[in-house]
Amino acid sequence: MLKIGCHVSSSNGYTSMIEDTKYIGGNVFQWFTRNPRGCQAKEINPIDFSNFLSLAKEYNFGPFLAHAPYTLNPCSSKEEVREFALDVFKKDMEILEKIPNSMYNFHPGSHVGQGKEIGIQMIIELLNNVIKEEQSTIILLETMAGKGSEVGSRFEELKMIIDGVKYNNHLGVCLDTCHVFDGEYDIVNHLDEVLDEFDRIIGLNRLKAIHLNDTKNPFGSHKDRHECIGKGYLGIDAISRIINHPKLKHLPFYLETPNELDGYKDEITLLKSKYIG
Ligand code: FE
Ligand code: FE
Ligand code: ZN
Repeated sequence: MLKIGCHVSSSNGYTSMIEDTKYIGGNVFQWFTRNPRGCQAKEINPIDFSNFLSLAKEYNFGPFLAHAPYTLNPCSSKEEVREFALDVFKKDMEILEKIPNSMYNFHPGSHVGQGKEIGIQMIIELLNNVIKEEQSTIILLETMAGKGSEVGSRFEELKMIIDGVKYNNHLGVCLDTCHVFDGEYDIVNHLDEVLDEFDRIIGLNRLKAIHLNDTKNPFGSHKDRHECIGKGYLGIDAISRIINHPKLKHLPFYLETPNELDGYKDEITLLKSKYIG
């Protein structure tokens, strides 16, 4: 069965995210634990939360992928920004530990001129500060498009981060199809080779989720602008090969395309029609 869903709004609480997912024909979802450009986490309503947990079980939905706010930058040159990242990360982990089958995706960060090596060391430091030996939540490093001073657009950089973390058995990777194509991995013409490279450098056992997006920009653009499925430079044929690839088809796919719910519903219908399983 295709595990698919989209990024849903968390503004009406947890139960409504399950309802939205059911409406669009999905069975997994991604959400922001807090305002993506700010920092405030919403109070959790215990009734809503327990309702969510029982519906998730009843519908057999999941995994649930939380996305860290964009303002979280573990490798900023400013100490207060790094402290904020640590604080948000710790608080989000507390929430996610209450959700079975949860994962936490974050952008490794932007080193803002300090250089990739220093950036990578700072990201490792944050992860060593937050990951507990006994935790159940899987933390995912997202593959980035490489715009500005972003860390994580090369598989080698993600591997260096993973290698520096003590309890890295709780670490995985979320591959964003828009980002990797923008970042010069040709998943349209050489999907097998890209996956072999991922396997050789990081190990495919670390790949836990796919952000399924088309891209508004051509190969290697380093721009990071998502397009609706089939309307960008990846195209529906390449995307169909991705969801059906023997090394990927078991993974959860999360759409982050520029859509409202009905648009997501249409994309999921389309993708299900292309899924051989
Ligand atoms: Fe992201
Ligand atoms: Fe993404
Ligand atoms: Zn993106």
